[in-house]
Amino acid sequence: MGKGESNKVVFKPYAPDQLTFLPYSLEELVPQGHPARVVQQVIDQVDTKPINRKYKGGGASSYHPRLLLKVLVYGYLTNVYSSRKLEEQVKQNVHFMWLCGMAKPDHNTINRFRNEKLSGILKEIFSQIVLLLAEQGIVSLKEAVFTDGTKIESVANKYTFVWGKSIKNNKEKIKTQLDELWKYAQGVAAEELKDIAPLEYEQISPEKVKQAIAKINAVLEDKADVSPKVRQKLNYAKKNWPENLARYEEQEKLLAGRNSYSKTDTDATFMRMKEDHMLNGQLKPGYNFQISTQDQFILNYSLHQTTNDYQTLSSHIDGYEALYQQKPKAIVADAGYGSDENYSLLKAKGIEAYIKYNTFDKEQKEGIKAFSNDTLYYNEQDNCLICPIGQQMRHIGDGQRVTATGYVQLISRYQAQNCQGCPMRGVCYQGQGNRIAELNHSLRKHKQETRERLNTEQGIKYRKQRPVDVEPVFGQIKHNHGFRRFFLKGLTKTEVEIGLLSIAHNLRKWKA
Ligand code: SF4
Repeated sequence: MGKGESNKVVFKPYAPDQLTFLPYSLEELVPQGHPARVVQQVIDQVDTKPINRKYKGGGASSYHPRLLLKVLVYGYLTNVYSSRKLEEQVKQNVHFMWLCGMAKPDHNTINRFRNEKLSGILKEIFSQIVLLLAEQGIVSLKEAVFTDGTKIESVANKYTFVWGKSIKNNKEKIKTQLDELWKYAQGVAAEELKDIAPLEYEQISPEKVKQAIAKINAVLEDKADVSPKVRQKLNYAKKNWPENLARYEEQEKLLAGRNSYSKTDTDATFMRMKEDHMLNGQLKPGYNFQISTQDQFILNYSLHQTTNDYQTLSSHIDGYEALYQQKPKAIVADAGYGSDENYSLLKAKGIEAYIKYNTFDKEQKEGIKAFSNDTLYYNEQDNCLICPIGQQMRHIGDGQRVTATGYVQLISRYQAQNCQGCPMRGVCYQGQGNRIAELNHSLRKHKQETRERLNTEQGIKYRKQRPVDVEPVFGQIKHNHGFRRFFLKGLTKTEVEIGLLSIAHNLRKWKA
């Protein structure tokens, strides 16, 4: 090339306004093995009768449930969760267009289908897909599953909380103030009140409070020496207390035993989130999402309104049995699930528990803490414990402890005969009198069995596998696919969302 000559730039032919000779076929635009093809192939095998039954019939024709299911599953698989964005996708994204066969459902149709047609039955569709995985030998429903949970934030406003404790305190305050007013009335008009029964408001209610205020008002009405402050208080009480109490009753119904809920999503409970995007440590309204996995495939999911994982296991397993009419051979989970109740439940169901109890890791490193109740020998025949210097600790009674789920634990108490002058006292017992040991025999036995099981070859294998089986699934969903907050409100709708997330996760993994 001579000096001064420039390189000739060559562009590929480009003529956007020139029509191609033949229209492109969408089929050619979706490569083999593409996730859209996996969705098509799997959803085509699903029996949609459970969804079809939700259509009333008559009126204008509807989009086929299979088509809308594909749109939603592919949407959750490609991080498109909003119905408006899905509407956009079915108009301009070739993969969605191919899945829909060029049909263009709008956002209302997609949303109605997700909220109304999938609620309550999506789990059935999910289980059909898991059964397809099992048929192909990818998972086994009879083998061990790895269970864990994560909290996902609700779409609800973070500052619209209702606390159960505040309601309780406010009710107590009304009770105390009413009592003070009654006592004041007694002081002012003792004669008139001597035949009137005292106020009875152990179970305080709007009606009872109304009656009590009316009683006090009637007595004090014509008394000249009543302080203006008391009259003011009575007026305030008459106007506000019955109304406030009625509101508290409504709120307690919504709480249904929980500690809190959000006013903008009454099913959401305030929980501590691992991922605190506001970095302020505040509790956020959310749900507890539980899954059981095998080779990172989700075999079962459930959504809970409680923050404690141990309280979710029972209904989670019931869900598994209801879906597949069989039980997994074993459940592997972290110490958050290790409780007397859960060990007993799994034993009764014949499921092996590879679940650590809270002190398991410490025990493995340091051994069982010397002089702890767990080290005391139990003599079953005489129902007594043997203390570290060999003294008999006699059974002095039994008690009960009821857990948050209503499970009753039997606690037995034993007492040493004489701790005075014992050379071990400094390290064994620093309290007054003779040492008392409280023992939950059932839990002690479960811990012993679990300790042995977790230290078998199989137990060690499961313990190593747990963090790489179930935990990465949450990582996939929350971090890699950005699902950190629900898009819909209410337990029923958020359950549909976790169902779609779980199906999408399995299909993504199936393809990989
Ligand atoms: S302090 Fe009491 S319970 Fe502990 S070793 Fe001594 S006698 Fe036994």
